[in-house]
Amino acid sequence: MNVTIFGSGYVGLVTGACLAEVGNHVLCVDVDQRKIDILNNDGVPIYEPGLEDLIRKNRAAGRLAFTTDPAQGIAHGLFQFIAVGTPPDEDGSADLRHVLGVARTIGEHINGYRIVVDKSTVPVGTADRVAETIREAQAARGTQHEVDVVSNPEFLKEGAAIEDFMRPDRVVVGTDNPRTGELLRALYAPFNRNHDRVMVMDIRSAELTKYAANAMLATKISFMNELSNIAEAVGADIEQVRLGIGSDPRIGYQFIYPGCGYGGSCFPKDVRALERTAQGIDYRPDLLQAVEAVNDRQKDVLFRKIDARFDGALAGRTIALWGLAFKPNTDDMREASSRRLMEQLWAAGARVRAYDPVAAEETRRIYGEREDLTLVDEQMAALDGADALAIVTEWAQFRSPDFDAIKAKLGTPVVFDGRNIYDPAQVAAAGLDYVSIGRRPVP
Ligand code: NAD
Repeated sequence: MNVTIFGSGYVGLVTGACLAEVGNHVLCVDVDQRKIDILNNDGVPIYEPGLEDLIRKNRAAGRLAFTTDPAQGIAHGLFQFIAVGTPPDEDGSADLRHVLGVARTIGEHINGYRIVVDKSTVPVGTADRVAETIREAQAARGTQHEVDVVSNPEFLKEGAAIEDFMRPDRVVVGTDNPRTGELLRALYAPFNRNHDRVMVMDIRSAELTKYAANAMLATKISFMNELSNIAEAVGADIEQVRLGIGSDPRIGYQFIYPGCGYGGSCFPKDVRALERTAQGIDYRPDLLQAVEAVNDRQKDVLFRKIDARFDGALAGRTIALWGLAFKPNTDDMREASSRRLMEQLWAAGARVRAYDPVAAEETRRIYGEREDLTLVDEQMAALDGADALAIVTEWAQFRSPDFDAIKAKLGTPVVFDGRNIYDPAQVAAAGLDYVSIGRRPVP
């Protein structure tokens, strides 16, 4: 089948590459000439494991191409995917400028029946606005080609996006038209062979499902972070508590890790956008507001612990950071906890020496050259001249370091672990102070 995808970011590129991999002919459209140039030169503008190989292979096979020309895209695909960003507006609601911009462009160029598939995360009612925008743009040029607008939210996780797309837990398709539902089923059939993962539902339920999923996951994290603060204050160990509750199958072990707050391009903005949706119908979203407030406070936790350990005298000190990306296996720095920590350290007059396996370039792009930030390309080099080490992202390669070597390099023998990745006794055995989240100090 012919598929067009608007937006060549994390979602658009993965969707495009995976749909091409199973034999479709995919044309990806983006307004960012730089991105399209990179893609047309066999590069990939983002880091996502496995993506580069998949793109290269499918480009070479002639099933995947990239352009900045929307008219070419609209002429190409029966399916027109919208996978553009929906950043938070000033009031926290989803900014639909890019989504509706694509809708307008589709209306301006459409020359026959099209299925417009909204993959961006958008508030309930957006499909209606997309349909209306296409209709208005068509009316302005005197055409009225038939269009079906489908909601097909994406649930992939950055860092495991290809696997998630290829073997989805579910594919949610929101449509009021049974025939369109069948066409989407056919498109997703190659990813749906073992079990029927395709769920066809009404459009509004599909739109809300995406927010419900992200809000539930964010709630689990904030719940555990709140509990970790209580555990610490009452002398309990949150890691023991985690195991104790995870063993209950109604709770489960997944996604109940305490830490220094959630970030990324989805949870923070989607929780906020759902709050705005609720407020728009005069419903007070107490739980969602608490989830956001707890997370906001948790993003300060590492700084508070570092500041306390140095009696508020951070000026002139150097703190080594391991991990910058909002989670492992991605270079995505959007709302990453490392950003809050670095900004607080800088405000206190400290310097940061940071190492991340892939996010250094993105960090440089965001902060530019500054004399209080040194990005190094080897993890132990971050410790050169540093007073302390803070773990912010739980990359696998940080899990089993040489603690004796860490001790030898640090001015003050202390490790602040924002992800609880070490055994406190093992760190202590190397003569290091170990400050983690919600755990009892080693006696
Ligand atoms: P992104 O910022 O990585 O990519 C968006 C792309 O859209 C950019 O390359 C931008 O240049 C392009 N774009 C903007 N306007 C355009 C236009 N008019 N025509 C063509 N391209 C245009 O965003 P992303 O992380 O891929 O997220 C896209 C959507 O998917 C968002 O709504 C997001 O909430 C949702 N989502 C993201 C993830 C994730 O893990 N990143 C997971 C599920 C859902």
